[in-house]
Amino acid sequence: SAFIEFENVKKIYQMGEVQIEALAGVNFKIDKGEFVVIAGASGAGKSTILNILGGMDSCTSGNIYVDGSRISEYNAKELTTYRRYDIGFVFQFYNLVQNLTVVENVELATQICKNPLNIDETIAAVGLQDRRGNFPAQLSGGEQQRVAIARALAKNPKLLLCDEPTGALDYKTGKAILKLLQDTCREHHMTVIVITHNLALTPMGDKVIHVRNGVIEKVDINDHPIPVE
Ligand code: ADP
Ligand code: ADP
Repeated sequence: SAFIEFENVKKIYQMGEVQIEALAGVNFKIDKGEFVVIAGASGAGKSTILNILGGMDSCTSGNIYVDGSRISEYNAKELTTYRRYDIGFVFQFYNLVQNLTVVENVELATQICKNPLNIDETIAAVGLQDRRGNFPAQLSGGEQQRVAIARALAKNPKLLLCDEPTGALDYKTGKAILKLLQDTCREHHMTVIVITHNLALTPMGDKVIHVRNGVIEKVDINDHPIPVE
């Protein structure tokens, strides 16, 4: 069976008297080791899907299965454990600790992990071996995102979730970041899910889930996912 499955997942945000239906019955499956792109316009529901999948938010109804567990049934304590051990997050604006160096940022993330990867090897894998002692402000945007990826990877998560990781970067740098995420997926057989609103980057996904107005509009399968030029 699938590594991840969403079954008629709905999410309603209650804002005072107003209800916003962010997800109106979402269904999809993802296999272990897939490199998945979630695409769609602003407000479509992409972040809501990722936040619920990452245990940062809960759905209003429906079922979500990850690696054989029904995470949509998890209580707060189970969700905390799940976020801590199973999920790596990468965000648009890096969220690095500014007064810690590259190596310290990565180290901090591994302190509460069960099976962290080797910190120096992980930093080398994202190409920052010569930047270990630098602070975030001394790095370019692309380099800061590499630190954020190293920090997420060092936890050795089951699932790497990336919300617009290229959103603050120029096209070329963003493409290199996506390539790094794709390589990581292949090398560690890790399931990686990336949100983007840049349709030019979707040919890199094994699977592209198009979200529109809170539902899945279509799912494209790329038999030969390619880095775009
Ligand atoms: P996307 O990531 O595709 O831009 P989101 O998942 O962030 O879309 O948002 C989907 C819909 O849910 C939007 O209409 C958004 O305004 C609404 N929404 C998202 N988060 C919240 C929230 N915390 N409270 C109320 N409405 C929200
Ligand atoms: P990238 O392709 O990773 O975004 P750039 O071409 O923007 O890298 O930057 C190249 C070099 O310039 C980086 O190694 C970094 O040291 C330096 N640099 C770029 N932007 C900044 C910045 N905002 N603050 C400090 N250094 C920067």
